[in-house]
This record gives sequence, C-alpha cells and structure tokens, in this order.
Amino acid sequence: MAQPITLSPEALAERVTRIFLAGGLSQLQAETLAATIVAGERDACKSHGIYRIEGCLRTVAAGKVQPQAEPELQDDGSPIVRVDAKGAFSTAAFAIGLPVLVERARQHGLAAMVVNSCTHISALWPEIEAITAEGLAAMVMCPSYSTVAPAGGSAPLLGTNPFAFGWPRKDASPYVFDFATSVMARGDVELHRIEGRPLPEGTAVDRDGNPTIDPAEALAGAMLPFGGHKGSAISTMIELLAAAMIGDLNSAECLDYLGTTTLGPHHGELILAFSPERFAAGRADPFARAETLFEAILGQGARLPSQRRFEARKRSAAEGIALTAEEVEMLERLERA
Ligand code: NDP
Repeated sequence: MAQPITLSPEALAERVTRIFLAGGLSQLQAETLAATIVAGERDACKSHGIYRIEGCLRTVAAGKVQPQAEPELQDDGSPIVRVDAKGAFSTAAFAIGLPVLVERARQHGLAAMVVNSCTHISALWPEIEAITAEGLAAMVMCPSYSTVAPAGGSAPLLGTNPFAFGWPRKDASPYVFDFATSVMARGDVELHRIEGRPLPEGTAVDRDGNPTIDPAEALAGAMLPFGGHKGSAISTMIELLAAAMIGDLNSAECLDYLGTTTLGPHHGELILAFSPERFAAGRADPFARAETLFEAILGQGARLPSQRRFEARKRSAAEGIALTAEEVEMLERLERA
C-alpha cells in the first residue's frame, strides 16, 4: 500500500502532465489540463482535482476527445473571438483564445470567446481568474450532459450547466463565484457514492421521479436544479446561449453523442469579458464602488465566494498538497500504465 505524501503544486503538476503525455495528449493539452486539475486539488476543490485524471484518460481511450488536436483560432477582428477546439480538451482552446479575448475586451469594452467542439471536464474559475488577472470582469458558462430534470419535471434533460462570474480587485483576490446550476455538482454526487455518504434531501430523484438521498439512485435518475424554477431557468439560459446560440451541442445532444455519462462531456463554451472602466466611462470609479459593496458584505459577517478556495491555495503554497494513500496509489498506477 502506498503512503500518504505531500507535494508542492509544481511537483504534482509535473506528475499529472507526464501521465497525460503518456496517455497521448499533445504538450499543450497535457500542460493546460494538468494545470487546471492541479489548481482544483491545490484549492481543495476535490471534485475537480486529481480524481478527474482517470475520466480524462477514459475519454481519450473511448475516442471521444482528440488528444493531439490543435485548437484553431478563428479571428475576424471582431469582439467575438472563436476557437474551434477540434475535439481537444477545452483548456487548450481557452489558452489559445485568451490573449485575443483580453485585447478585444480592452478595445471594445466587451468581448466574447466562443469555444466550439471541446471536451470540458473542468471547473470554470481557473478561466475566470485568468481574465480577472487582466483587470477585466468575466462570465463563463457551458452545458454538460442531460442529468438534471427541469423544475416540475422528473427526467434528465438539462445539464449540471456551470456558471461563473469574476470581478477584478486591485489589492485583493478577485471576487469569483462558480457553481453548478444543479443542487450539487455531479462530481460531488459521485464522491458521495464512492464514500458511501447519503445526499442532502432535495438533491435528486430516482429513475421513477421519486425523491432520493441515495447517490447511486440519483446518478441513475435525475438531479434537481438549485433554487427550483429559478435555477431551472438559469440552466435553460445556458443551454440557449452556450449551445443553441454558438452552434454547438446542448446537454441532450451531448449525451446522445457520448451515450454515457462516464466520459468527459463534448460541447461548446461561452466566455464573456468586460472592461469595467470602459463601461463606467468616467463616472464613479467602478472598482472603488465594488470595494464598498464587498466591505458591506463582510461587515455583516458573511464571506465572499472563493474565500475558502483562496485560503486553501495559501495553505497549499506554504505546506504543499496532502495526498491520501489511495490518491498516491492511483497516481502510481497511472504512471505505470
Ligand atoms: P459550490 O456549491 O461548492 O460553490 C459555489 C460557489 O459558492 C463557490 O464559488 C463557493 O466558494 C461559493 N460559496 C460556497 N459557500 C459559500 C458561502 N457560505 N458564502 C459565500 N460563498 C460561498 O459549487 P458547486 O458544487 O455547485 O460546483 C463546484 C464546481 O463544479 C464548480 O467549479 C463548477 O464549475 C464545477 N462544475 C463543472 C461542470 C462541467 O461540466 N465542467 C458541471 C458542473 C459543475 P468557495 O469555493 O470558496 O467555497
């Protein structure tokens, strides 16, 4: 049995990159995917950490992602920047489109990046933070595969459709939220199943549409949107903007294409970037006004989203990332494969 170990984020990224290179990924795909997965592990977001590696490799083995594809930037000089991922992992497409998105958002005040034909297994906050680091506000959304019933319905139709937003701050970590529009992210339901933990009430229905707290029954049935009809509508908006509007697969079509929910979903992604200065157009300083709002929130004893993550990040930088014996065993097994 392997022993638990602690690794620096850099050392873990090297190991994960090597696993992906051996698994047939191009250098860009391997490096960007490893960086995103290790960022999840570093920030204590276990559902998007190293546990995702095997799913990525399974998707490669199933031929549902193109590990050597080179995403293509299709730039017509407009504020809509397109990247055709050509079936690659989304992280590589995002890396190629980011500099142009940033340039266009500064130029026009508002720009969008449309990513088409990618496999997207990631949390959205790494992309949000790459944009807020440039002093821009950002929104990111994508569909997934049909695992969520619309409010009032009983069968999978919508995806867990993540939605994220970020606001840059001059002297602090950015304001970032990033969540699934289902009550719980599917990766978390899977972690509950692996760990034998029941789900909170109201998370899911079973195959017959009855409420269940059994994660296995939930995975076979349908998850529920957060906030009832409100989350259901936001999730539907994501199907419209990040699938129908950008000419890519929606969650139902993605499930048809894959035929399973055990592989990384294949679809598109919509990324929006805003220049707060350009929108404010010389009126009151948007950044100062934002700080007043954040202070008022914190002043009530509430916390800002991502605060937990940023604290975990600081801990990981100082103390390293602690991996359990099972996680080390998984890495070693993948390294031997
Ligand atoms: P959570 O419910 O764990 O967190 C949602 C957000 O709310 C986070 O930004 C979190 O910050 C913040 N938050 C949590 N508690 C509080 C609080 N008490 N006060 C203020 N803010 C709070 O997220 P989900 O489980 O819904 O999603 C997890 C991840 O799964 C996301 O990163 C999402 O992108 C990803 N995902 C990806 C999909 C894909 O297909 N690619 C599909 C669905 C989800 P903090 O992290 O600091 O706690």
